[in-house]
Parts: sequence; C-alpha cells; structure tokens
Amino acid sequence: MKILLVEDDKPIAEALVTTLKHQNHVVDVATDGLLGLELAESCDYDLLLLDVMLPKLDGISLCRKLRSSGYQMPILLLTAKDSTEDKVKGLDAGADDYLVKPFDLPELTARIRALLRRGIAPLPPVLEWGALQLNPSNCDVTYNNQPVTLTPTEYRLLELFMRNSTRVYSRSAILDHLWSFDEPPSEDTIRSHIKGLRQKLKSSGAPTDVIETVYGLGYRLKPLSEEKLVQLPRILMAGLPDELGFWLQQRLGNAVVRVTQTGEDTRTQLRDRQWSLVILDQHLRYPSPAELLKQITNKGQSAPSIPVIYCGVKGVEGYPIAPSGKGRKLKETRNSATTQQQLDTLERVTSLLYHPLDGEELAREVAKLLNLNLPYPQTPGKQDPTIVAAIGKVWERFKDRIADRVTAIAQATEALESGELPPELHAKAKQEAHKLAGSLGTFGLTEGSVIARQVEQLLHSPTLDATQAANLTALVQDLRSQIDQAPIESDRREGSPLKDLPVLLMIEGDQELSQQIGLEVTGWGIKVVNSDSIASARTAIADRRPDAVLLDLSTEDTLTFNPNNKKEGLTLLSELANGFPPLPVLVVTDQSRVEDRLEVARLGGRAFLQKPVRPAQIIEAVLQVLQGVQTTEAKVMVIDDDPQILSLVKHFLEPWGMKTIALSDPQRFWETLELSSPDLLILDIELPHLSGIELCQVVRNDPRWNSLPVLFLTAHTGPDIVHQVFAAGADDYISKPIVGPELVTRILNRLERIQLLRNMAETDPLTGVANRRKSITEFDQFLYLCQLHEQPMCLAMLDLDRFKQVNDLHGHAMGDAVLRQFGKLLLRTFRSKDIVARWGGEEFVVGMYGMNKESGAKRLRELLQVLHAEPLVIGEDRLYLTFSGGVAQYLEDGKTVDTLYRCADQALYQAKTAGRDRIIAYHHQTEPG
Ligand code: GH3
Ligand code: MG
Ligand code: MG
Ligand code: MG
Repeated sequence: MKILLVEDDKPIAEALVTTLKHQNHVVDVATDGLLGLELAESCDYDLLLLDVMLPKLDGISLCRKLRSSGYQMPILLLTAKDSTEDKVKGLDAGADDYLVKPFDLPELTARIRALLRRGIAPLPPVLEWGALQLNPSNCDVTYNNQPVTLTPTEYRLLELFMRNSTRVYSRSAILDHLWSFDEPPSEDTIRSHIKGLRQKLKSSGAPTDVIETVYGLGYRLKPLSEEKLVQLPRILMAGLPDELGFWLQQRLGNAVVRVTQTGEDTRTQLRDRQWSLVILDQHLRYPSPAELLKQITNKGQSAPSIPVIYCGVKGVEGYPIAPSGKGRKLKETRNSATTQQQLDTLERVTSLLYHPLDGEELAREVAKLLNLNLPYPQTPGKQDPTIVAAIGKVWERFKDRIADRVTAIAQATEALESGELPPELHAKAKQEAHKLAGSLGTFGLTEGSVIARQVEQLLHSPTLDATQAANLTALVQDLRSQIDQAPIESDRREGSPLKDLPVLLMIEGDQELSQQIGLEVTGWGIKVVNSDSIASARTAIADRRPDAVLLDLSTEDTLTFNPNNKKEGLTLLSELANGFPPLPVLVVTDQSRVEDRLEVARLGGRAFLQKPVRPAQIIEAVLQVLQGVQTTEAKVMVIDDDPQILSLVKHFLEPWGMKTIALSDPQRFWETLELSSPDLLILDIELPHLSGIELCQVVRNDPRWNSLPVLFLTAHTGPDIVHQVFAAGADDYISKPIVGPELVTRILNRLERIQLLRNMAETDPLTGVANRRKSITEFDQFLYLCQLHEQPMCLAMLDLDRFKQVNDLHGHAMGDAVLRQFGKLLLRTFRSKDIVARWGGEEFVVGMYGMNKESGAKRLRELLQVLHAEPLVIGEDRLYLTFSGGVAQYLEDGKTVDTLYRCADQALYQAKTAGRDRIIAYHHQTEPG
C-alpha cells in the first residue's frame, strides 16, 4: 500500500520508513505540513501518517483541511502529547486514529493494518475474493487454501485489487497507487506485472480471469456471481452492559444490537446467526475472547469474515473478575502499556478500544466500520471549564446527600450480615444504589457508577447468600472510598455556592454613577462586580463569568475613560456579545448619535442607555436583559424527582443561555408547562404519582404541545422501557449518568433545528421582527397569563406616516430599507419579552405585558421623540420618519386579540385624522364617525 508520512523529525521518519517498507508498503515522506498537503492532494495514498507538530502547517490543521475538501483516505495521527484534548481535536479534525509518541512500532504497524483494512468501506482482517485470500499481516496469499507465492510488486497489485474489489484501475492509477512519487516505472512494466500475477494465480488453480481486463479502462477483479443481500446491520455486543447495547441501538438508528453476557451465549449467537459486526469485551470467559475470535474468523471459507471491535483494559491481560473477589484486582495491575496479548488481539480484530469505554467513540467506530451515518453530529469530548466548575459546585452541594445514600446501603449490608434484611431496608438500599449509579459518573466518578450498578444488581435478588453478602460489603467499601476521594475540584472562590444571584459586571469609570447603581441595586437580587477599566474587566470575566455586563462607553467624562477606550470597549462588546455562549452587554454612553446606537446594536449590544440616565433606569434595563436572556433564549423544562439531577441539568444548560425550569412534582406539570411554555421538555421515567411516559403521552395528545420536543433522561435502559418511551412519542433518549457535553450537544441540536424551522415560519424576512401569525400566538399566550395573574396588557398598532411618499420620492428599495431600520429600532426599543411584529405593509403591532394603555402610549411617545431627534440614516441618506399609533388594553377594551386589534386600529385611525405623528389610547366613546 502507498503511505504518505508527514514527519519533520528525521530519525523517527527513517525508523518508520524502514519498518513500513519491510511490510511491503511504499512510502513518501514530507518534512513539513504544506508539502504534505501538496502530496496528499496530488497523489493517491492509501493512508496518511501525520505528525502533529510540524513546520508550516500543523498536523491537525492539515487533517482538517484535507477532510473539509472531501479527502477520504484513513489518517493516523502521531501525537507527542498524551492529552485528551489533542486526541479529541485530532479526531474531530477527521483523523481516524491516533498514537501517542513514543510509540512502539508493532502497535503502530498493527494500527496501520487495521486502518488499511478499513479503507472507505470496512474490510475484514483477511481479504477474500471467492476462494482467494490475502492476509495483510503476514503477506500470505492463498487460493483454495493453497499458498500462492508472489513477488512484492505482484503482491501489492493483488492487494490493491482486493481492497477495492469493485473498482477498475487504469494503468496510471495503478502507478499512482503502487509506486512512490519519485520512482515511477513505465506503463508497460505494469502490464508485465499483471501478466506475472495472472500466471501465478492460474498455476494455483484460479481461473485466468480473476483479474479481468476492462477494455479501454484498465483492470479489476472479476465480479463474483452471487449477490450479497442487503439488510439491516446486526451487531452482537458480547460481555458489555445491556444499557450500552440499547444506547448504541438508539444512537445508530439503523441497526439491530443484541447483547450477550456470557461467553457461552456469545458462542451460541455466533454459531446460530449472521452478524455484521461483533463487539467483544476482554472480560468474557468460557469461552474466552481469543477462542471466540477464532470462531469468528474460522467460520468457514464460504462466510465472509466480519469486523470485530475489541474492548480491552489497557495493560491488563484478559481475565475475569473472580466471583469470590473484589473487582479491585483490575485496578491494581493497570498500567498504560499495551500488552503483547493485546497486540496479538489487535492483529486479529478490526479495532481496539480501551475501557473506560466512551459510548460516543464506540458508536463512531461502529458507524465507520459498517458505513452507517450517525444520526447527529459527534459530541466533542472536551470539558468546558465552566462545566467542570459547575459540576464541582453541584458536588459540594450534594456530597452529603450522596454519603447518606451510601450509608443507607451500608445499613442494609450490616443488617444482612447480622442475618436479617428487612424488606423496606432492602428496597431502600436498592433504590439508593440505582440513584447512585445514575449520578456518580456524572461527577467524574465513573467507577463509582459501575460499583453502584453492581450493588444494585446484587440487591435485585430477593435473598442474598453469604458470598453475595460478603461481595456486597466489599462493594460498599469500594463505593465509600470512591466518594471520599472525589476527584472534583470544587469552585470555592464564591464562599457559598448555594445561592446563585445573577452577577452584573459594571465597567464604569464614573465613580459616582457606579456607587449610585451599587446602592440602588440592593434588593433586586443582583450581585454587582465593579471594574474601572477594560483590562481589569477582562480579568474579572475570566475569573468568574458574569450574567450581564454594563459597559460605559462615554468619551467626554473627565474620568478613567478616554476616547481610545471606546474602541477597546466596542471590541470587548463584540467579543462578549458574539461569544459562545453569548453574554449580554448593556451600553451606557454620553454619545447621542444614531450611528452610535446602530454600531452598538450591530455589534450585538443588548441595550443603549444615553446619559444623563438615572440609576433606576439602568437597573430596570439590566433586569430586563437578565430576564430577556431567559425569555428570548430557549427554555428547557426538566421534570425529575431527584434534585441532584435537576441541579446538574441546570448547571449544564445555563451557561449556554438556556433557561431551565426545574420541577420535581409532576402534579404541577400542566400548570408549569402552560406558564413557562418551554421549547423543550426533559422527562424522567419514574416519578411519584405519575410516570414520565404518561406525561409524554398527555403532551403529545394536546394539539398545542404535540410538536414540543421531548427527551427522556433516565437510568432505566431496559428494552421494554426504551420501546415504551419512543412509542409514547419521545424524540430522544439519554441515559444517566449524564455526560454534560452530550446533553448540551443533543439539546442544542434539537433546539437549533426547531428554531430554524420556527424562524422561517415566524419571522418577517424584510424587517426581522415577528410576522403577524407569530404575533397572534404570542398574544394568545399573553392573554392566558393576563387572565391567570389578573394583569393588564396593551396592544398597539403603529403605522408609518406618509410612507407612500418615501417610495414615491426615493424608490421602493429605499422604502424597504426604511422598513428594515424601523423594525430594528422597534426591537431595540422594546423589552425582549414584549411582542413586536409586522402586521403587514408599513403597519406594526406591539404588545406590552403588565402595562396599561397609558403607560404603553407613553413608551410609544418616547420612541416618537427619538425619531424627532434623529433622522434614520440609510447609506448616504438621512430621513426623518414619524408614525402614528393606537393603543388598546386588556381587559378594559377587549378580551381577544381580535377585539383588541379593532380597538387599537380605531385609535390609530383617529391619530391619523388628527394630524399623524401621535399616539392615541382607545376610549369607548371614540366610535369612528
Ligand atoms: P398614512 O400616513 O396615511 O399611513 O400614509 P401612507 O402613505 O403611509 O399610507 P398608505 O396606506 O396609503 O400607503 C402605504 C404604503 O406603504 C403603500 C405601499 O407602497 C407601501 N408599502 C407597503 N409595504 C411595503 C414594502 O414592503 N416595501 C415598500 N418599499 N413599501 C411598502
Ligand atoms: Mg514534529
Ligand atoms: Mg402609513
Ligand atoms: Mg397603512
């Protein structure tokens, strides 16, 4: 095979070239990343070996570049750092595998063989074509079990055909594939090599045309007569937990996964059924994985070999956890070397994964080997520091409760040892073990989860014998020590993590103003952190992420800020507002030009407060933004009776701007759903009084909620339950323990999809505000809340004055631009929880909850003032624009959107006839004349 090695370290490169050539490979070497890219793009390689640290272009970027241009050949990364971050980066960049330096050459060559077997479609370890077999690991070729002796070139030719059994190779393609860049022979040479190969095959009994000539095109393997049947891939997962199997099946979507627990069962399954892929765990016994592998590969000449994924423990030879003993032996012998036995195994399997298994990695591997599409994108395995800190906090908060759970189990154990385990204690212990299994892994205590699950399994049987009781005692001890050495760094900087007030970072050079705000803010449930320069603000943000930022961009104050700071401040604004997740920024300034407003809005500022401004106004704006963060971003409602889970989900999701509505009592479900109208629902299965599945059914049966995405989060992974969950209409399923990035990614994906669809159907494309249909649904929701809380609301109709003239004088394009600007102005002016929509033409509608029509009219008049003061700037043009408005109020003027609209429209008509450029609140006596 032809391999490109991109490596700048000469000694390493030479060692690799020697080894690879010895294995019959052709190797080109590039000593920097750019050269590597050039070669990879211009020649056909079967595999790329990439160093990460390279001159000119690093290996990861190179990999990403190639993949983004559709490059499909396998890429193996050679990385010097054993950091997960590098590994994840590499795999995310599209590498197929990676090896940490210093590596041993046998493992490297084994991994190369595994990758080459894979190609684009997965290949078994031994390549087969009818009775012809080629074994890349020892270069043996047989026909009907009779050895065929080939020259290295003939061997390489045959291997090329067998790896790509349907492809036709022209002579120049063969040249490209089999000869290195700098020593190409003539095409005639190829003809004679083919001839030699055919003759050798023939003398071993093969028909002459195993390699057939396709006239005018080239050569290929002669197609075999029998067609392979296409069916759903069947995966046998041997020796791994049921839940992983069910998870995998869900994850893959289009495959059947069967789980076996014993060597015996596995043997039977392998004998009786056809499998597309086998996942074998190292711990299997009687027969062992080695024997099972034999069974798989020796299934007979007629059946093709199947890919095998082997799951081993690094540095540990396969052996069972002794029934008498503690699974602890495993840990003691663990070290990081790959054992000879594992190397041997790797030789016979398609890929090797190590425990602790990463479900996502397994799924990715299976999908790759079976050529399946994973239903949603890969989850980056990286740990966001905010998430780590958040988990730390949750741990601090719950570690006592977790210790209590263990104590409850320990009590059961003691009772058991003294001869009598009362049923309540038994049930309680089992329940607690179940909860621990579901939550410990989420805190990074993966082993704790595993132990808890073992405890739970032991406690499943109604009675326990002496051995089982002893086992249980040992497990409980393990569990305790796991929890005592919780590896989590908790974020203690904040003193009490219990109450999280939203934090406002105030970047304010005006000492007086910042003091006033500091005074005013007490009682509003906001914590203020002060910074008097951009630089110190950056430090403060890095130290602790605030929930909102107030940024003073004044240039004329005689204080800390000078005009240069404005630029710096705008840069910070843009960084924060467009960060991931974004951070809301409110701007205070002494500048009053519309351009400044526009610039702030363009960079993503959430409010523009012009000095002089009262501290109370600023705080009101801050509160609006803080609420806005929650109401405009996605809302996720979580129902779980375990407060730990509620807390965790909250901590995972909130840094992403998702508001979580946590509910532990399902009896308040409906009320909470109506009030909060979430964008996504997360349900637990087992809840007091009601089951999550029932809730899901109820939601699906209500026309208003039947398209709400529902996701189950549960420790139950039995096949019946999973089936029920989907039958009840769930969209997705995540098993506990929660893996933060996985949860976040799945939720974001789902929300993104809905929001995209929704935006298309709900937003007016010209102005960016909601369309009429959307506004009506929003008004309906407001009306529901108004009725419930006995609150007023006002609906205002706005119509631009003499807008036709704008079109007539300046053209339609200008008219459009004015509408667009006006839409933006409305969005900036009104609170994010207000309704702003384009009703049609140059008419807009605004809804303000909790306001009577006098206050509503006042706000509209303020907007008119703004328009009086400043023209709209459209390109070179400046244009003074006014509008007229009519306002109606719930409940005084009507109870439905329709009646409120009619009243507001009447008032608008009045405003127009009274001379335009004004706002009129509807009065009963103002019947149209
Ligand atoms: P009045 O103060 O009485 O409301 O006067 P007006 O000219 O604004 O009212 P009229 O209803 O007579 O005209 C509305 C104009 O708005 C007519 C139409 O050309 C224009 N218009 C409606 N939709 C659009 C649009 O999407 N783009 C542009 N450029 N103009 C639009
Ligand atoms: Mg290097
Ligand atoms: Mg008009
Ligand atoms: Mg009109």
